[in-house]
Amino acid sequence: MQSAIPARSKLPDVGTTIFTVIGQLAAEHDALNLSQGAPNFQPDPKLVDDVDRAMRAGHNQYAPMAGVGTLRDALAQKVERLYGERYDPEREVTVIASASEGLYATISALVHPGDEVIYFEPSFDSYAPIVRLQGATPVAIKLSPVDFRVDWDEVAAKITPRTRMMIINTPHNPTATVFGDADIERLKAVTRDTGIVILSDEVYEHVVFDGAPHHSVARYRELAERSVIVSSFGKTFHVTGWRVGYCLAPAVLMDEIRKVHQFMVFSADTPMQQAFVDMLAEPQTYLGLAAFYQRKRDLLAQALSGSRFELLPSEGTFFMLARYKHFSDERDSDFVLRLIRDFQVATIPLSAFYTDATDSGLIRLSFAKDDDTLIEGARRLCSV
Ligand code: GLN
Repeated sequence: MQSAIPARSKLPDVGTTIFTVIGQLAAEHDALNLSQGAPNFQPDPKLVDDVDRAMRAGHNQYAPMAGVGTLRDALAQKVERLYGERYDPEREVTVIASASEGLYATISALVHPGDEVIYFEPSFDSYAPIVRLQGATPVAIKLSPVDFRVDWDEVAAKITPRTRMMIINTPHNPTATVFGDADIERLKAVTRDTGIVILSDEVYEHVVFDGAPHHSVARYRELAERSVIVSSFGKTFHVTGWRVGYCLAPAVLMDEIRKVHQFMVFSADTPMQQAFVDMLAEPQTYLGLAAFYQRKRDLLAQALSGSRFELLPSEGTFFMLARYKHFSDERDSDFVLRLIRDFQVATIPLSAFYTDATDSGLIRLSFAKDDDTLIEGARRLCSV
């Protein structure tokens, strides 16, 4: 439709997200999709039955703004059992309509125009645009291109009196690295006595491999006191389309986040919340997730062992980076297009996770896929 109204875009340089673009290309070229971090398999049928039952039992109207009470209780118990911190379900736990909503609500509630927000690149693609929409400045710190670790000296140097927030993400999308004890100690030190709020994106909290612990900020009272945790049911229960997650924060911060949440979505989907209460009652439903994905990681790595790609270690998430620089000097975005067109396999170029499109000759593979897809995807990549 024609319109004479000037759009006056607030995000003039932002296009459609890479996940949508690659997903469409994959469909057009009938490519196997190892791109988006979304399972191509089904959740536990019990979870679907529970939602069905909740709907039939009449749980079809607005949930309480902060989330179904029994679910907030179950979340507070889970977090205390796993990480030691006790969040008050009344004031400090909120069920959100996706982790994406939680990120948006948190940043827009707590970040003011003129503030600076430190985050690490490559990063999930929504962080910087959300910060910019607040009239604040995203300050990207690049992870080392060798092992994608945080250079904490650089972080200390980039903190200014205007730094209001630091966004961390462990396990990390897209690099599949996880924080260790040393990262936590440095995080404590650089944020101590600063007034910086830590926004901790922990959506992959249950997908840490090789027996390593998940370094939730909820394990460290000093950090928990200045942090907002955003997590997801979608990743944990193979239901990324249900758009339900949760947020944990000290009451003084959560009060502000809820003010935004109530006007963005008011509340998250009711029947799903009812169903997650039952899932949380059985810890093996989420504690088995790391072993589930570790087997898929190893299957994919094994199936790619004869390929020309160099695989980077995947310590968590359901992603793996693969290097091709030594056999092609194509830009990663061109390389990914060629893989889709000529080899019918879709992946994500790492440059998509940088605001300046840094090209390191790396692609991101998602192994949240059934075994046949992983094996066939690897077979196609082996012929590249
Ligand atoms: N988190 C998922 C990924 O990184 C996808 C998110 C999305 O499609 N918006 O692949």
